[in-house]
Amino acid sequence: MMKEKTLFERICDRDIPADIIYEDELCLAFKDIDPQSPSHILLVPKSLITRLANATEKEASILGHMLSIIPQIAKQQGFLESGFRTVINSGPDSGETVPHLHMHILAGRKLTWPPG
Ligand code: 5GP
Repeated sequence: MMKEKTLFERICDRDIPADIIYEDELCLAFKDIDPQSPSHILLVPKSLITRLANATEKEASILGHMLSIIPQIAKQQGFLESGFRTVINSGPDSGETVPHLHMHILAGRKLTWPPG
């Protein structure tokens, strides 16, 4: 039986629309539908990793790749200099709602710390 696609696999496959701002062979970045800051981008691997809690050494290169392209995204979106926050929620206490690892990139306002 075919496993049901995650929401973000459906976005990667263009089954459902998203405001896509970056794509390469390994990952896709698009605008969050419910932005928590003036710029709120989600960066996802095309090949499913459910959450950081389930990642292993096997995922080291895709995770490293994703982190390494964030400066490019920040430059393209105009917040490389002003700053940004990168967040990966993992598991119930974090508020994770989509079981497909995603990096939030938040920018465009002064963010508070600690997060809620
Ligand atoms: P999490 O809470 O799992 O860390 O983040 C999931 C994120 O996905 C949330 O910020 C939420 O607003 C976003 N999101 C949920 N559904 C959609 C959708 O259909 N399209 C887009 N672009 N973002 C979504």
